[in-house]
Amino acid sequence: MARTLFQKVWDLHRVRTLSNGQTQLYIGLHLVHEVTSPQAFAELRDRGWRVRAPERTFATLDHIVPTQAQVRPFLDVMAESMTEALERNCREFGIPLFDLASGRQGIVHVIGPEMGLTQPGMTIACGDSHTSTHGAFGAIAFGIGTSQVRDVLASQCLAMTPLKVRRIEVTGRLASGVYAKDVILTIIGRLGVKGGNGHAYEYAGEVVDRMTMDERMTICNMSIEGGARIGYVNPDETTFQYLEGRPYAPTGADFERAKTWWRGLASDPGAPWDDIVVLDGSKITPTVTWGINPGQSVGVDDRLPEPGAAPAGERAGLAEALEFMDFRAGQPIAGTKIDVAFLGSCTNGRISDLREAAKVVAGHKVSPHVRALVVPGSQSVAKAAEREGLDEVFRQAGFEWRGAGCSMCLAMNPDRLQGREVCASSSNRNFKGRQGSPMGRTLLMSPAMVAAAAVAGEVVDVRSWMAEPAGAHA
Ligand code: SF4
Repeated sequence: MARTLFQKVWDLHRVRTLSNGQTQLYIGLHLVHEVTSPQAFAELRDRGWRVRAPERTFATLDHIVPTQAQVRPFLDVMAESMTEALERNCREFGIPLFDLASGRQGIVHVIGPEMGLTQPGMTIACGDSHTSTHGAFGAIAFGIGTSQVRDVLASQCLAMTPLKVRRIEVTGRLASGVYAKDVILTIIGRLGVKGGNGHAYEYAGEVVDRMTMDERMTICNMSIEGGARIGYVNPDETTFQYLEGRPYAPTGADFERAKTWWRGLASDPGAPWDDIVVLDGSKITPTVTWGINPGQSVGVDDRLPEPGAAPAGERAGLAEALEFMDFRAGQPIAGTKIDVAFLGSCTNGRISDLREAAKVVAGHKVSPHVRALVVPGSQSVAKAAEREGLDEVFRQAGFEWRGAGCSMCLAMNPDRLQGREVCASSSNRNFKGRQGSPMGRTLLMSPAMVAAAAVAGEVVDVRSWMAEPAGAHA
């Protein structure tokens, strides 16, 4: 019988069906960071329990780690104490920790793939909702809360309810200047921030087939912003080429055997998807959020919605967002002045993102009224960028070049918006207060669009920017 990848991986990891209908699911890889793990480790210690599978558990520092002065002890007392706690817990429970001295530290959803820990057919859990990122490899990956972090540490299992599977096919070709970020913002804008509730999203179609692994990670990362717990792409040659030679990937004959098995996990033709949504990729334009959730977005050459023209149930939400953002219904998004430009996060803090942004800023200067920072997703990304001279391109343009971490994605560190600042951000959430100031305003967009906004000092269409010679916007 034809099955989806989701069904195959779920069935392979089913320990048993619980009396309430949930599945006891074995977790192949558990990723841990400093913020959602201290309480879980404390409960294990209180009960005298050990970590069930330390060889399947890996830790890093990302959420709270400062990105400016990464010298211990950190000036931020809370960051230092959470870091010490993670170090102590990893030592005591025998878990590898990719700390600042390891050369491999970084955002949990960046380092898992780049080290080859993330592989097709795995079940992956982590105390961060953007764990869906790892689905780009054909894994079933989902975020969990602190009590579930404890459960996985103690048992390597979770009680989970099976999900429906929606296949989202993006057909055609993306135009130049249109990126994976624009694809996922468009999907969320069309299906809504709750449209994926109870679902796994399977991304497919010519546009997804042609995407690099970095691009697939960007779309899977934001599945959760569309309400889906999980997003995945069926593994293919692009997946295998990315994994080959990574430190934790199988090698030699084992890699060849793994490839055969991974290939067989892809959804079968005619699999029983619960529904199929088709989008024309050639119609997607550079997309910018204007509101207070990632579904409130428009094409860069479009105008903001009129609440009065929306269905009755949506009007109040649209009006609230317009008021908070200080926008008028019907105004264009292009030309919106920005104060801060943030390049980074697990959505768009990879080397390919920095390359695209660097192409845009090369030869230009950041607008005098804009504070701009680049925060590589990992130490490996930072090193690769420095080898290519990208750090110098950004520095010469007036960007700050920081150490790896989550930074202004959630501002649990000194990287924060002030007051009513408007931030062009390559991250994944634009909720009120997300970037550190309760009244701060976030516009989500692709890294290339952030770079163009940093130089122009306002939201601009990167397509026209790319068509002009360097120096035209200096
Ligand atoms: S970059 Fe943002 S979304 Fe990603 S792991 Fe860090 S806090 Fe979570």
